[in-house]
Amino acid sequence: MKKGKVYLIGAGPGDPGLLTVRGLELIKTCDAVVYDYLANPRLLEHARADAEKIYVGKKGGDHTLPQEDINTLLVRLATNGKSVARLKGGDPYVFGRGGEEAEELVDAGVEFEVVPGVTSGVAGPAYAGIPITHRSFTSTMAFITGHEDPDKQDTAIQWDKIATGVGTLVFYMGVKNLPMIAENLIKNGRSAKTPVALVRWGTTADQQTWIGTLETIADIALREKVAPPTLIVVGEVISLRGRLNWFEKRPLFGKRIIVTRARAQASDFSRRLEEMGATTVEFPTIETVPPDSWDALDSALARIREYDWLAFTSVNGVGYVMKRIAETGRDIRDLAGPKVCAIGKKTAASLEALGIRVALVPEEFRAEGILSVIGEVGGKKILIPRAKEAREILPEELAKRGAKVDVVTAYRTVRPEGNKAEVLQLVRAGRMDMVTFASSSTVSNFAGMFSPDELAEIIAKVPSASIGPITTETAKKFGFKVLVEPKEYTIEAMTKAISAHFSS
Ligand code: SAH
Repeated sequence: MKKGKVYLIGAGPGDPGLLTVRGLELIKTCDAVVYDYLANPRLLEHARADAEKIYVGKKGGDHTLPQEDINTLLVRLATNGKSVARLKGGDPYVFGRGGEEAEELVDAGVEFEVVPGVTSGVAGPAYAGIPITHRSFTSTMAFITGHEDPDKQDTAIQWDKIATGVGTLVFYMGVKNLPMIAENLIKNGRSAKTPVALVRWGTTADQQTWIGTLETIADIALREKVAPPTLIVVGEVISLRGRLNWFEKRPLFGKRIIVTRARAQASDFSRRLEEMGATTVEFPTIETVPPDSWDALDSALARIREYDWLAFTSVNGVGYVMKRIAETGRDIRDLAGPKVCAIGKKTAASLEALGIRVALVPEEFRAEGILSVIGEVGGKKILIPRAKEAREILPEELAKRGAKVDVVTAYRTVRPEGNKAEVLQLVRAGRMDMVTFASSSTVSNFAGMFSPDELAEIIAKVPSASIGPITTETAKKFGFKVLVEPKEYTIEAMTKAISAHFSS
């Protein structure tokens, strides 16, 4: 049997981008992934489809799975020959009981490796605009557990030493004991006016920061009901936040946005939104699959020279046609003959990337746009390879003007299984800020994926953004409140319009 191994991996502080390259590599390859509540669940999307994914979450004090059971689980998986990615929030050896897990593995004769992670005590303050050291303010810092029982007689924390001996103090797990922590620091000589920052859910869309002093912070925390996971940062470096607060100032900071595009296209849109500070929830409502039969496309391609125009209406159309051309032993030179036109910049760009000159891209990025610029089409032969289920307006209008139009199916769109539960949970918690629709079919597919009651709840709580008037019309038909519609029907313009909406 294959020998098992456990990797204790720092999952970073929350922002999934703050995982190390080594950590990612291991998540992608391990047989099992064991994770807790501080590790961003998004990281699991990288795991192998057949990997065992085990949640051992613990929140504050109430452990879902006691530490001993976690240790036993890791040993059992490894003894069964599994490679195990044990994801731990932040860094595994910073207040994460990673040391204990490693000891247990050694005792059981299980091989292990540690992959350090970005600890929240560094990243949380950084994302709150606070560098934990700075030459003008401090040369020392300390990470301290705030979890200790405040009534403990023989405390392991030497308050008299840390209160004045260290510049920046970062307390983990300390919100419950905040009054005791502040009091002890003042009692041992730290000025009551020392600035204090509380950073909750740092580096995530839910990040919140409160600023006070040793004197005021306990009251602030009480009033604001500050709960874990929260870091307490004490020190003069906090005064830099006024100038260095880059993360919370991004236009879409704290906004959670649903992206309903097909998985293949969603990532570009998601990345743009995330660049501006949003957290995205990808919820594909459309997936493309090959047509039931290639006959129509194959025969049109075989007669390609007969056509005057070859019109592409989507990036998918281009992709499937090119794939089919390759599959049938042809290449793009076999597209010689017709002039090529494209609806939309993206479609045109995907053609140009293949070295195909696009003769016509209409100003308006929808079917009607082509009609206004294509000119005289009487007697012309036009080939339109596209989705099976698409609007009829383009072929119908071209035919009315006397063109001979062949519409062939290059792909079909189907409705995928979605992460409905996650979406509903966030909607119900009031933590979903917008749902985005980049086409009419994403609207109707989205609506079709929920029960009428669920849909009503989403519509009541979450406003929407639509890419253009046709999509808006469909969204409104379902009852969605459309608050954003860009002037230009592109993803770039929609991203900008969403950002402008939330900034105003
Ligand atoms: N190993 C982890 C710490 C685990 S102890 C690390 O290196 O970050 C758990 C404590 O970490 C929480 O109570 C909280 O104080 C802190 N913490 C972890 N993630 C956090 C986050 N995203 N924002 C604020 N505090 C966080």
